[in-house]
Parts: sequence; C-alpha cells; structure tokens
Amino acid sequence: MDYGPSVEDSAAVRDWLAARGSFGHFIDGAFTEAGRTFATRDPSTGETLAQVSQGGDDDVARAVRAARKAQPKWERLGGTGRARYLYALARHVQKRERFLSVLETLDNGKPIRESRDIDIPLVARHFYHHAGWAELRDSAFPGHGPLGVCGQIIPWNFPLLMLAWKIAPALAAGNTVVLKPAEYTPLTALAFAEICAEIGLPAGVVNIVTGDGATGAALVAAEVDKIAFTGSTEVGRDIAGRLAGRGTRLTLELGGKSHFVVMPDADLDAAVEGVVDSIWFNPGQVCCAGSRILVAEAVADRFEDLLRARMARLRVGAPLDKSTDIGAIVDPVQKDRILSICRAATDAGAELVGGQPGEGCFIAPGYLRNIAPANPGMEQEIFGPIATLSTFRTADEAVELANNTRYGLAGSVWSESAAIATDIAARIRAGVIWINCANVFDAAAPFGGYRESGFGREGGRAGMRDYLAAPQPRPVKEKPAQ
Ligand code: NAD
Repeated sequence: MDYGPSVEDSAAVRDWLAARGSFGHFIDGAFTEAGRTFATRDPSTGETLAQVSQGGDDDVARAVRAARKAQPKWERLGGTGRARYLYALARHVQKRERFLSVLETLDNGKPIRESRDIDIPLVARHFYHHAGWAELRDSAFPGHGPLGVCGQIIPWNFPLLMLAWKIAPALAAGNTVVLKPAEYTPLTALAFAEICAEIGLPAGVVNIVTGDGATGAALVAAEVDKIAFTGSTEVGRDIAGRLAGRGTRLTLELGGKSHFVVMPDADLDAAVEGVVDSIWFNPGQVCCAGSRILVAEAVADRFEDLLRARMARLRVGAPLDKSTDIGAIVDPVQKDRILSICRAATDAGAELVGGQPGEGCFIAPGYLRNIAPANPGMEQEIFGPIATLSTFRTADEAVELANNTRYGLAGSVWSESAAIATDIAARIRAGVIWINCANVFDAAAPFGGYRESGFGREGGRAGMRDYLAAPQPRPVKEKPAQ
C-alpha cells in the first residue's frame, strides 16, 4: 500500500500557505495580526514558505497573561475533562497526518518518510499517552497540583514532536502554556494552533508566540512558573544563569555526543543498519544521534567495509521524494557549522570519508576515521550526517571511551550477548541506552540527560512529575488549650 503523501497533499499544504501568507501569534484562542515578520524557508530550495511574526516583549506578556487567566479553570476541569481535549488533539493530529508531514518536511527539510512514519505518528501517540496521564494524575501523584503557567522553548530538528513533548504533559498536569517554536521551523506549531481552535480548546490554555532567540529570552524573563527548554547547551546554560534565584522551575534538554558501541560478537549487518538510524536519520540533526561509533578492533575492518557499502546506497535528495534517505540541512547557517567542524577535524589529522557538501543545504553522509580522542570532531556535537569511527580492544576501554564526553544524553550497545550488553549499558553514564537498536522513542519512556546534556525528564511518569508542584504540607492543627 502506498500511503505516502501525494501530489494532492502537497497541493493542500501550498493552498494553506497561500491562503494565509503571513501568520500572527496564537494568543488567547485567536491569531493576532502579523506585525513585524520574518521569512521561513524550504531549506531544500531556498523558497520562502511564509512570513511569520517576530514576537516582542509585549506579545510574550500578553500570552503569559492569557495563560495565567485560563489556568485555574483548566485545572478545575479535572482529569477527565482535560483528557477529553488531549484525546481530541491526538485524533485531529492523526486526521491531518499527511498534511502535517508535508508541512514539516517543507519547513525543516527532513525526508518525508521520516515525518510521515516517525515524527507525526509520535506526536499523536504523545497526546494519547498524556490523555491517560490527565486522568491518572490524582491517583498517581496524590496531593500534587499543577505549576501554573509554563514557558516552553523548542528547537527545529523535530518541530511538532518537540511541541508535543512539551505541551502534552504540561496540559495533562493542569498547567497552561506559552510555547515558542524555533525560528527556522514555526509552521507546524501554527498549524497545531489551528487544531487547538478547531477542537474548541479553551482560550489561553495553549499560546504560541513565534520569533527568534530574543523572543525566547523574553519568555524566560516573563512571570512564568516553569521554563522547559530544548536546544543547545550554550543557550541552556545562559537560561539557567538568568533564572538563578527566581524560584522558576527549569528543565533542560540539551546537546549530546552519544556513543554507538559495537562489540566483537555483534550482528554487524544489524549494527550497520543501526548506524543509518542513528546518525543518518534526520541528517544527523538529532540530539541523541549515535555520533561516536566505537567498534571492537577484531571486527573493525569488516564493519567498516559494510558501513561504506551501506553509506554509498543512501540517497541524498529532495525531501518530498519518498525514496530519499537524507534530506536537506535545516538552514545554510547550520550547514556551514557542520562543514567548519569537519574542517577543524581534518585539519587536526582525521580523515573524512564521504561527507561532501552539495548545492544548497545538502551534505552527503560521512564519517571521520583515524581520529584522536582530543580531535574537535570527537568532542564537539557536529549535528549533521557525519559520525566518528574509532576502535577499542577491551570492554573496559569501550566504557572509558564512551564516558569520555562532557555530555550524557544517550547511547547504544550492539552485542549478541544480553549479559555483555547490559553490563556495558549499566556502566555508561547517559540518560538512555539502547541495546541492539537506536533512536527508538516512546511517550511512556522518560528521556533526558546528565551533565551538559541537561536535567529533567520528558515522557512517562518522570516527565509528568516535572510538570507538577510538590504536595503542600497540611497545616498543623493547634491543640486546644487544656
Ligand atoms: P538553540 O539553543 O540555538 O535554539 C533552541 C531554541 O532556543 C530556539 O527556539 C531559539 O530561538 C531559542 N533561543 C535561542 N537563544 C535563546 C535565548 N538566549 N534565550 C531563550 N531562547 C533562546 O539550539 P538549536 O540550534 O535550535 O538546536 C540545536 C541544539 O539543540 C543542539 O545542540 C541539540 O543537541 C539540541 N537539542 C537537544 C534535544 C534534547 O532533547 N536534548 C533535542 C533537540 C535538540
């Protein structure tokens, strides 16, 4: 069955964009007039898709006021009442799955196979899952209540999915939100705002303010009860500094440099397929990408032969083409960033296999070999389709290399022995370790990092807890005087 987006789906998205032309913010249940705007582009062609408003302090303040006003009523709806809306959001995302997939691919450049089969289905799954949590909140977390108004700032690599990771648990817990999408990819968040209006979500429960880092900074400065941020370690560190001493709750999902450990007994064909899922998925613009491949010396030559052959078969090209494996990098700025880290890595002695830049925002898949542990390519998050490949002799050495990073987000271990794989997994300090798979996500599984990868969890029970206030201590009754 061919269930990919058709020409008609693309036409529907084009009509939608043409009908709107420019977008205001979504505040208090309605779109504002578009004021000062910036262009959002299709990175695969450079074509302008729409004009989007640049949010200022006033827009953020208005959105926060709307969220503040809506919050007590949203909480008083109770778990079942809130769940009804979350189920409706999930169903409407599903209904518009093909439309949203095409829109996401146009704005971000990721292959349509990924937005259609991974991003958008996971968005719906996230809202379904958290509808359940809305109903379970009071029995699972007795005495806990919502935090109030949550400010949420997201990156561009999984635009609608990151929105779902943020909005679904916040709403389930009884909070209201002001979300700022990334400047490169605001369009699916605006389509989501339309869905909120369509299902009759009470005004002010979800507010979307578009803009760049300055808009994000205005949200951090606003009177909100929590900031949930996903993005770079640099900005995360800056936000943590600005919130210090203010009593605002904070969770940070930041960068990573995750390992991909191939043990001598691994199924090498499966492991090579795992590399494809790990670093060549969403052109490597994945915070938990298995970007550091560590392979046992005994099988390294065979593994590399298989890897090269597989890499040569990957198709780089038009993101809307259903046979494309590697789409466009999100923006020329990001492309230059990737290429400059690769240059620094080769200047420091590493050898780059593949990884050639193409016209426009394209970069072929590649990897750096003969790379020393202190090489910039080993240390910095490349955030593109370029892995590093190094070898180890013993399991202890593999663990040491895997832990030799300032990050601690994710990783994977490949071995046919459950005992070996679980032993290594337990010794690596990272929030998520996959065994014989990579980049597998589920709304029920908490996701988050250690060290410079941030703190707090998203998904499952732990993710819910991060959107709840601790129970208030019961007032102690004074004993009547004897
Ligand atoms: P970024 O930090 O530049 O931007 C992220 C978001 O923050 C954007 O919406 C941006 O407008 C906003 N922002 C920028 N400056 C700000 C400021 N001073 N105050 C408040 N908000 C500000 O990151 P990016 O380049 O968009 O995303 C790539 C990075 O995000 C990578 O390092 C990647 O690893 C990380 N990331 C992490 C996760 C995770 O779950 N851990 C997921 C996706 C991306």
